[in-house]
Amino acid sequence: MPSIIVLMGPQGAGKGTQAKRLAESFCLPIVATGDMLRDVAREETDLGRLVRANQAAGQLVSDEILAGVISERTSKQDCLGGYILDGFPRTITQATLLESIALDQGHRISVVKVDVPTELLHQRLAGRLTCAKCGAIYNVNSKPSLREGVCDLDGGLLYTRSDDNETAIAHRLALYEENTKPLLEYYARSSRLRTVDGTGAPEDVAARIADAVSPGSSTVIGGCTAQAKLEDGRL
Ligand code: AMP
Repeated sequence: MPSIIVLMGPQGAGKGTQAKRLAESFCLPIVATGDMLRDVAREETDLGRLVRANQAAGQLVSDEILAGVISERTSKQDCLGGYILDGFPRTITQATLLESIALDQGHRISVVKVDVPTELLHQRLAGRLTCAKCGAIYNVNSKPSLREGVCDLDGGLLYTRSDDNETAIAHRLALYEENTKPLLEYYARSSRLRTVDGTGAPEDVAARIADAVSPGSSTVIGGCTAQAKLEDGRL
């Protein structure tokens, strides 16, 4: 049965980086609500302005707006075989919505929590740079680009997200704790929650996540080789 992989963890846990690796391994599209909402925020509409204000302040966008955004995206053709969720769900209401979408689509939900100590999260977020073209993530301290301000992969300009400032970071991390605690408990109760250590080299974290969602797949990672496991329902 096709599957939905939910990547959970606070901002800075490396969900974006790991989602890309998982997408390659399992041939699944990434549905990242933060990115989708940043696109909405660029529009000069009432919705665009509202989302922009929420994001800049590190506040959650309403469940109602998320419902529209996520339902539309996950009904697209490329999501038929499953998808990786980054940044969604963040509340119990959103989790309930996801259950009904998954039920309609015949998908099973696997939830992985990426664990990183708070101090390390602050360091990562404060130095984070994102490529405007491909979304690749750099860090001024731990993973600088070869040419300052320019993406190594496609030459795109690197920018600091509007919500990667100290005040918004502290707010987002506190909000994450507050909002997702019940959500984590909810998933833990239904035995769908796997927790992996998110510290160390990205490739090691990727192997841990792949093993959590599909035991044994980290040895065959890359080039969609784990797809067979997904399709025969072992994920
Ligand atoms: P992210 O890129 O996941 O850190 O998300 C950036 C911002 O987008 C968040 O601080 C929220 O303002 C908004 N956002 C992303 N996903 C959600 C969600 N599932 N529910 C509510 N707001 C969201």
